[in-house]
Amino acid sequence: MPGGMGTNNRANRAKKKAARERQERARNERLRRQAEEMTGLGWHTVDDLDGDDLPAPPDDALLSTDQCPVDATCRGCGAATELRVVTAALTAPGGYEVGCTTLCGDCDGRSLLQLLGPAGFSSAVEHHATH
Ligand SMILES: [Zn+2]
Ligand SMILES: [Zn+2]
Repeated sequence: MPGGMGTNNRANRAKKKAARERQERARNERLRRQAEEMTGLGWHTVDDLDGDDLPAPPDDALLSTDQCPVDATCRGCGAATELRVVTAALTAPGGYEVGCTTLCGDCDGRSLLQLLGPAGFSSAVEHHATH
């Protein structure tokens, strides 16, 4: 075994290993962000909107509750008094998704996405589109 090369080889190996670890970290970060978007954690409610890069706010007509039927109970907690229909809009690819649901006075003001969950909010959007 000739001497001299060993040191260089070890240094190159260490450099390659560091580069590989950097790539791995970047990939993990990308995957984490994708997972966040897919589970809806990256969504924003209309109240959060403050950037210029976002689409124009949704139509008042779309957010209007004039045509929305009031359920018998609050969808958030099951209460049967002080019920009212509320609408909420979330940013979606190409614009907004607006859904409506029945809430009591206590639940009004809470995030519909948190109260209903992503699947529940989706059906609230489908429901609102029917009237
Ligand atoms: Zn409630
Ligand atoms: Zn509605």
